[in-house]
Amino acid sequence: MLDEKEMEAVGSVEDKFKEMLALACRVLGNSGHDDLNLGHLSVRAPGSFKSMFMKGRGLCLSEVHVPDLVTIDFNYNKIEGKRDSHGELPIHIEIYKLRNDVNCVVHTHPIYATAFSATCQTLRPINNEGVMFASPLPHFDMVTDLIVTSELGHALAQKLGDEKAILLKNHGIVVVGDSIEQAVVRAYLLEKTIKTLFIAKIFGKPQYTEDTEAAQKSTRIFTKPKIKAMWEALVRQLIRKEKQEKALESLLEK
Ligand SMILES: [Zn+2]
Repeated sequence: MLDEKEMEAVGSVEDKFKEMLALACRVLGNSGHDDLNLGHLSVRAPGSFKSMFMKGRGLCLSEVHVPDLVTIDFNYNKIEGKRDSHGELPIHIEIYKLRNDVNCVVHTHPIYATAFSATCQTLRPINNEGVMFASPLPHFDMVTDLIVTSELGHALAQKLGDEKAILLKNHGIVVVGDSIEQAVVRAYLLEKTIKTLFIAKIFGKPQYTEDTEAAQKSTRIFTKPKIKAMWEALVRQLIRKEKQEKALESLLEK
């Protein structure tokens, strides 16, 4: 049994995770991942094998704050939160059940990655960021429909395997990470990579980075401190944007 001080510490860690998750939703929402009120992120409750915090239904990613989150257990019950849950809960729950190393799951429909998912092509690295996904990402093509059953969620989690991300045919992407920072940076860079590929294909036939160099380059670029620095850069960009919007709003109110 935890004493009062320990309970307080658990509470403050949970609050921090929720703050970070809301921030992560807004970071991605402002970076090409907003799709009206669709798309969702979750984080495993600290140290838990039973529950997660997740974006609630009804808002754009870019509008999410802590009160818009819901807490859900891995038996599909909502424990806390004023909003309804998204129907695609199984994506998150089934991945957490299968991957103990995953603490954050992103599911979004960014335009370039979703368009690319429809081609079922293998993603090859053509830019710095692309080397992160050089071990070819799996495609989930069992259905193109929403993932609303535990069976489909489980099949998706199995297809994801040990990978960082998976392309959902004619639907979108799922990206995972051992932390919120890592999953968000990966999701941001996956969309950027596919957007860059799209532009390169307009110029001509892109040349790819070979596997050995891609692996070496990936180890050099994507260390933990560098991922953290990228996350912090994304957060600073968001804060600047939100400050500008607030200033504009208060000007318009005058
Ligand atoms: Zn979806």
